[in-house]
Amino acid sequence: MPDKRITVYQVAVPSPLRRVFDYLPASHSDQSLRPGCRVRVSFGKRQVVGIVVATKNGSDIPLGKLKPIAEILDPIPLVSAALFDLYLWSANYYQHPIGDALANSFPTLLRKGKPIPGDAQLKWRLSTLGLGLPDQALKRAPRQQQLLHLLQQYDALTAEEIKGQGLSPAIVRQLENKGLIESFEQPRAESHWQTGDLLAEQPLSLNKEQQQAVDGIRTTGFCTYLLQGATGSGKTEVYLQLIEKIIRQNKQALVLIPEINLTPQTLQRFRSRFTCPVAVLHSGLSDRERAIAWNRARTGQAPIVLGTRSGIFTPLKNPGVLIVDEEHDSSYKQQDGFHYSARDVAVMRAKMEAIPLLLGSATPALETLHNSNSGRYTRLSLSGRAGISRPPEWQLVNLRDKNLNAGFSAELIDAMADELRQNHQVLVFLNRRGYSPTFSCHSCGWIASCHRCEARLTLHLSINRLLCHHCEHQEMVPAACPDCRSGKLQCLGQGTERSEAILEALFPETTILRVDRDSTRKKNAMKAVFDRVNRGEKCILIGTQMLAKGHHFPNVTLVVILDADGGLFSADYRAPERMGQLITQVAGRAGRGTKPGRVILQSHHCDHPLIQIISQQGYGAFADKLLQERELAELPPFSFMAMLRAESHQRQDAEIFLRKARQAAEKLLPPSPSCRYLGPLPPAMERRSGLFRQQLTITCNHRLQLQKMLSALSQELEKSTGGRNVRWSIDVDPQEMA
Ligand code: ADP
Ligand code: ZN
Ligand code: ZN
Repeated sequence: MPDKRITVYQVAVPSPLRRVFDYLPASHSDQSLRPGCRVRVSFGKRQVVGIVVATKNGSDIPLGKLKPIAEILDPIPLVSAALFDLYLWSANYYQHPIGDALANSFPTLLRKGKPIPGDAQLKWRLSTLGLGLPDQALKRAPRQQQLLHLLQQYDALTAEEIKGQGLSPAIVRQLENKGLIESFEQPRAESHWQTGDLLAEQPLSLNKEQQQAVDGIRTTGFCTYLLQGATGSGKTEVYLQLIEKIIRQNKQALVLIPEINLTPQTLQRFRSRFTCPVAVLHSGLSDRERAIAWNRARTGQAPIVLGTRSGIFTPLKNPGVLIVDEEHDSSYKQQDGFHYSARDVAVMRAKMEAIPLLLGSATPALETLHNSNSGRYTRLSLSGRAGISRPPEWQLVNLRDKNLNAGFSAELIDAMADELRQNHQVLVFLNRRGYSPTFSCHSCGWIASCHRCEARLTLHLSINRLLCHHCEHQEMVPAACPDCRSGKLQCLGQGTERSEAILEALFPETTILRVDRDSTRKKNAMKAVFDRVNRGEKCILIGTQMLAKGHHFPNVTLVVILDADGGLFSADYRAPERMGQLITQVAGRAGRGTKPGRVILQSHHCDHPLIQIISQQGYGAFADKLLQERELAELPPFSFMAMLRAESHQRQDAEIFLRKARQAAEKLLPPSPSCRYLGPLPPAMERRSGLFRQQLTITCNHRLQLQKMLSALSQELEKSTGGRNVRWSIDVDPQEMA
């Protein structure tokens, strides 16, 4: 019989279990803790940081066996009740262990039980010893000497500023160890901005559609808006003017952008418009910097908060608006661990905090279009380009039976030469990095493959290595075939490195700039490329999807899509949608300045309806067509999907586990025309990083039914012993199917 007189706290702790644990109040404390407070508790043999989720009277466990909370870290919760409810909702909706989901919602420092760091900046300066050094000191250690001189010149610098000068943290440590420099905390200068002089620059005068968009957004109460407008149609200007309105009402704006778009240029656009602080949250911050930015949002010191995916969980003192830019971007969905979609969580957050949400995109996700077609979201459109430029013209090149020069058709080469003669810039899009995706033996057919994945190795000539793009594996390039000893090894297919080499041979007079994950690994490499492009001289840009996003290249007049076929025949039903978005985004780079633009798309399937529609009618019609197909096939957004994934060292373990999971699931929610099971089946790449993979897909026409089943199922799977040799996860609303 539970003792009902005693208050018991239900605490979420870092553990893979989808449950909370009971604890007694801390001894010598009569404080009552609200949900959201961090506490230290003993869990097993360890002390861990947990978070109070709820209180109840009594426990099913004998009170004598319960432990008291060891330490109260937050006497009052750090986040509002509404936001904490959102954290709980997310854990629940995505079927993720609550302790881990909550840990994901807080900055690492706080998750480790540390207090919020003061807003002071940690800086480095010369110590008394360092101040006494002659100018010539440390001649034998030029990097250390450089730092010494910098600090003589500037008095004090943050670690970030030192890094910005190209000096590594190791150099800082070396000088610190010699006692020549020391760190200290400098209070951040309070910015004295007032709503009266909020603007640092005059806003642009909006065109009619932009004005309608800004006026059409109600700043009180919950409503979701879709701002659909081609790249360059002026969406960002709409965000800026909406944010201005919100700040004038003493509220805050939280803006999410894809990681790749969070460039100094984007940040600059916000900082040069407004005098008020902008807090920025992205993956490059140290734990300390992140916690400080998080806290500036939480306390309202920063009226504007700019973040990437996980920024959606940032508390705001006075929430005013949420904006998700490029809402279709796949980086908003976390692909491992806690499988949340920041865009979808944003919808729930806006509802819980009763504020408007603005989703912006040139190529909205089909889910979002569906919600706007059905009237659940309010659609605002920007049809033209904000400046004077016109949309580009399309030309298809049929690759069938064509002689190709490493992927370039003769027509294409002519067209490029034509543009370059006029000193224009050309952008070539190929979504495959490396030199060649297949390295094989011409004598016996051997193909270089990864021994840990079911995948071919990509040849990277720049580092002379074969790399697996699916795991960390890399190896030397063999001089002869490992199977037959033949020396006739060949490269099949092309990646950006090879296209770069071909272009250098074809256009020896022209600067070729390659942009992909490899070429931009060095800090500032990307910026250097863009600075060159923006000088406007003729050049060819060749690159992967990194080129597709956000950038404004006014002098690019021709965009080339080397190979559009990848997305047409994929096992992933979402592949055509992604292909259409990518092609449209890349094409949107053409003719953004005063000169007209054109797009050349090469394909072996020029007569494919999807290629026809996207090139002739644009993304809107393309998306409509895909939506019709999805409706017929009862696929999302016309149904709801969840995927159970399992991986194991032995092939059969994952499969047996999911077969049992399916049986259990079918008992909870029997298969029917409105609830369909598929699998367990191996994904397109069955083996990855040495593990065998299997997946079970469940598609249901009723979201609640699916949710209820998944909750019960996950509890059962946690308890089952079959899972011991298997790593498994649940992905609700999966984005990657293959
Ligand atoms: P998007 O975010 O849709 O890509 P931007 O807001 O970045 O579009 O606008 C594209 C370009 O057009 C920018 O250089 C911007 O300064 C300019 N622009 C936007 N709105 C206007 C306007 N109302 N009048 C003049 N130029 C504008
Ligand atoms: Zn061989
Ligand atoms: Zn591999």
